[in-house]
Amino acid sequence: MELHEIFAINLTPEHLDRIVVLTGAGMSAESGVPTFRGEGGLWKQHRPEELATPQAFAADPQLVWDWYKYRRNLIAATEPNPGHTALVELESILGDAYTLITQNVDGLHTRAGSNRPIELHGNIFINKCNNCSNTFPDDALNFDEMPPLCPKCQGPVRPGVVWFGEGLNPVDIEDAFMKSHQATLFLSVGTSAVVHPAASLPEMAKQNGAFLIEVNPDRTPLTSLADTAIHETSAKALPALVDKIRQVRSKSI
Ligand code: NAD
Ligand code: ZN
Repeated sequence: MELHEIFAINLTPEHLDRIVVLTGAGMSAESGVPTFRGEGGLWKQHRPEELATPQAFAADPQLVWDWYKYRRNLIAATEPNPGHTALVELESILGDAYTLITQNVDGLHTRAGSNRPIELHGNIFINKCNNCSNTFPDDALNFDEMPPLCPKCQGPVRPGVVWFGEGLNPVDIEDAFMKSHQATLFLSVGTSAVVHPAASLPEMAKQNGAFLIEVNPDRTPLTSLADTAIHETSAKALPALVDKIRQVRSKSI
C-alpha cells in the first residue's frame, strides 16, 4: 500500500477503542539513528551482537562503554522526526485508549512529548549498577575507571539497556502483553519483527482480533499476517495514518 491509499483503509470507530503502537529502530532511522541491521550498523568492525551482551561487558568493559558513549553522542545530536510527532498527536486524540511500546533505547519518543512509553529495552542514557540495579547520573560516576564503580555497592556500572540474552523487566513485558492482548488496533512500526518477545506482541494482538497495520519500507515476517502493510517510512506514513484516525474518530463523536 502506498501513502495516498492510507485514507482508504477500512477502519471503524470501534477499532479506536484500544490502540497499541509498537516501534523499533526504523522509527528513529529518519532522525539519523542507524538501525542495527541496516547501513551504519557496524562500529569499528564490531557487530552489535558482539557488543550488546553481558559477556562482552565482562570481557572488555572499556570497549562496550566506548561503543555506548559513541551511540549516546550520536543520539544526543538527533531530533525526533515527524513520525514521533504524529504519535504524540495520536496520544492527545486517544488519551487512555492509547499505549506506546518501544524497543528503542534512544528516548526520542519522550523527547518528542510522548508520555511514559513502555521502553522494553531500557534507555541508553541511564547508568545502572549491574549488581544492585541502582541508577546514577553521569556526574555521580568516575568514567576514568573502567567499568565505573557503583557509589553504593562498588559493583560495575553499565548502560541501562537490555542486552542480547537478558530478560526484560517483568512489569514492562506483562503490561505490554496485557495491552496487546486487549488491543482493537495494533500498529507495528519500523521493527524487523524478529526480536522476541517484542515480536510476539503484534501476533498475539492479531490472534485476539485486533486490526493489524504494519509500517515498514521492507517486508518482514509480520507482513503476511498484517491486515494492511504500508511500505513507506514511518516519518511519511505516520502523519497520514494519524490524519486517517482523526477522521474516523470525528465520525464517531
Ligand atoms: P532492526 O534494526 O532489526 O530493524 C529495523 C527495521 O526498521 C527494519 O525492518 C527496517 O526495514 C525498518 N526500517 C528502516 N528504516 C525505516 C523507516 N524509515 N521507517 C520505518 N521502518 C524502517 O530493529 P529492531 O527490530 O527494532 O530490533 C533491533 C534491536 O536493536 C532493538 O531491540 C533495539 O533495542 C535496538 N536498537 C535500538 C535503536 C534505537 O534506539 N534507535 C537503534 C538500533 C537498534
Ligand atoms: Zn550497586
